[in-house]
Amino acid sequence: MTSIIDGKRCATLIRSAVAQHVGRLRENYGLRPGLAVILVGENPASQIYVRNKARLTEEAGMLSLDERLPAHTPQIQLLEVIDRLQRDPAVHGILVQLPLPPQISPEAVFAALNPAKDVDGFSPLNVGLLHTGGHGIVPCTPLGCLFLLKQQLGDLTGLRALVLGRSNIVGKPMAALLLRENCTVTIAHSHSRELAAECRRADIVVAAVGRPQLVKADWIKPGATIIDVGINRITSPDGKTRLIGDVDFAQALGVAAAITPVPGGVGPMTVACLLFNTLTVACRQHDIPAPELTLPPPDRETSSRPG
Ligand code: NDP
Repeated sequence: MTSIIDGKRCATLIRSAVAQHVGRLRENYGLRPGLAVILVGENPASQIYVRNKARLTEEAGMLSLDERLPAHTPQIQLLEVIDRLQRDPAVHGILVQLPLPPQISPEAVFAALNPAKDVDGFSPLNVGLLHTGGHGIVPCTPLGCLFLLKQQLGDLTGLRALVLGRSNIVGKPMAALLLRENCTVTIAHSHSRELAAECRRADIVVAAVGRPQLVKADWIKPGATIIDVGINRITSPDGKTRLIGDVDFAQALGVAAAITPVPGGVGPMTVACLLFNTLTVACRQHDIPAPELTLPPPDRETSSRPG
């Protein structure tokens, strides 16, 4: 039996805990956390993500600001918008939606972000703090993956973890987080040799490559826990599009102890962690203790593990 890790349910729990904290902040301190999301261009997937983030931000009782800029916006103009928002006391967190158009360097944008308002954790200071064990802001997707792993497995100490993918936004911060949890971490990428064998050694696999169903049944160690970050849009022969992950989900069933589905796994957790990070930065900016979030154990009725 393989447990299906219910990211949607966990995300709902995190969002409702965040909403409760926000309610207390507003009541006790008159503080309403504010999140500004900047979208450059008209990427259809990004437009959906941004709309969704705005809706859930409002639902959590926070202020949502939406900045839309045309695709041809010069980098300097985006940096001016970031600067203006960073000086706005009603804005506690700022997120620049990726991907950016080619004339804008993501590194220049991350460098311009005030680390105290950088809810994505991509600014150089927050990246450094993650790697040196400090208390910066942790990128939302890896943070969501870690929530799910800890909820599923409890203490991760000593487990062998493979992170497939080494991007700055998922793979590298994920590996740093797992190292912080005392896992033995391997990072694999497009130049790695014997990928299947590397994967088969791992108790935890986090797949973030953007290659549909790359991970097959015989790559998976029996009893491993799989977090599938991949979001791949494929078109079926009937012309309908659907989302699939980087892991062959059907094949993994019966081999893995637990796996996240796509959709309904990591995706909802990313947005929930964004709200959590926004709450955290707002508290820190006002010297109010930032909340710790813990999740209840998974629903054992729908979760059973082999052995
Ligand atoms: P990137 O394209 O930035 O990075 C992909 C990584 O995978 C690279 O390190 C690349 O290696 C590696 N890779 C590519 N092909 C292979 C292969 N055949 N074998 C081994 N490694 C390979 O992607 P992201 O990290 O931004 O995203 C990864 C996936 O996660 C995407 O599907 C994306 O849509 C999804 N995603 C989902 C989120 C969510 O909320 N659920 C949030 C963010 C991303 P190399 O470095 O050598 O090129």
